[in-house]
Amino acid sequence: MKKKVLVTLNLQKEHLDRLAGECEVDCNSQDRPMDRKDFLERIAGKEGLLPSITDAVDAQAMDRAPGLRMIANFGVGFNNIDVAAATARRIPVSNTPGVLTDATADLAFALILAVNRRIVEGDRMVREGRFRFWAPFLFLGRDVSRKTLGIVGLGRIGRAVARRARGFDMPVLYSNRSRLSPEEEAELGVSFRTLPDLLAEADIVSLHVPLSPETRHLIDREALGRMKPSAVLVNTARGPVVDEAALVAVLRAGGIAGAGLDVYEDEPLLAPGLADLENVVLLPHVGSGTWETRMKMADMAVTNLLAGLRGERPPNLVNPD
Ligand code: NAP
Repeated sequence: MKKKVLVTLNLQKEHLDRLAGECEVDCNSQDRPMDRKDFLERIAGKEGLLPSITDAVDAQAMDRAPGLRMIANFGVGFNNIDVAAATARRIPVSNTPGVLTDATADLAFALILAVNRRIVEGDRMVREGRFRFWAPFLFLGRDVSRKTLGIVGLGRIGRAVARRARGFDMPVLYSNRSRLSPEEEAELGVSFRTLPDLLAEADIVSLHVPLSPETRHLIDREALGRMKPSAVLVNTARGPVVDEAALVAVLRAGGIAGAGLDVYEDEPLLAPGLADLENVVLLPHVGSGTWETRMKMADMAVTNLLAGLRGERPPNLVNPD
């Protein structure tokens, strides 16, 4: 008998066909997240789950499906899943690392350029008919080339951002839970700093840590207070890594020069006042949002799900315990 799986996001036909070859698939065919009630009803009796990063896969959800044998997340960040609860139930959990590294690093750089060169503000100005003449000291931004970049979390995406920074002749500082070897630091051209030192020195701070109890509000009011008034913060990691209300207050007070955000503390809601600020660029969580990357992520998630359901080790297992 085919195994029953729930896919909570609208995958392309080729991926659903791969699943349907071995499974009975219940798929959310709408381009919007399932609501919690629907999710809890439809997970009941399932053996496999392919959730979106917006689904809270917690103990309550797992208890609705006592036969659950595999959770294959559609994303590299898996803070939406209670991994300890899954491990306690001996349910393997997987993610989609690597295939989205370049797309997300590209987007971080797009935000670095957009905020510093006022790309979105300029676009608004031209569309609204406010571009009347060229003048040497009007509508100026800040250089990106040769500015000091501070990368918080030098994993796959952080390293890809560091590689891009080479092309802009930027000195790169990093802070990370574990320090790289001297050989790795030399090869990437990066220098280690403690987080407080990095925040004080960098002209641009780009966040690439996963969301965990340790990184929640890692960038709080105190951390923001260490940054230069001319500095820019870019967050393509997870919203709660930054205290968003504190960020709004610091931006308003001119404590830092600007911010580029792809993710928010309480998505899709924004902290009051954030959208009123001219010196921020706001994107709708599209770090991995290219056609090519999302297709690779889907392929990877399906491969993980099928492997787990066959009783094999999923290639991208996050809870080997
Ligand atoms: P990764 O390779 O696991 O890198 C994460 C890095 O953060 C690692 O170097 C890790 O250090 C470091 N780190 C973890 N906890 C830390 C802490 N408490 N303090 C300091 N550093 C810490 O992950 P990745 O593939 O680069 O992805 C990073 C995150 O980006 C994901 O978790 C996800 O949330 C986010 N993301 C967002 C989008 C988007 O659409 N905006 C797309 C993709 C990913 P160690 O080396 O010591 O483990």
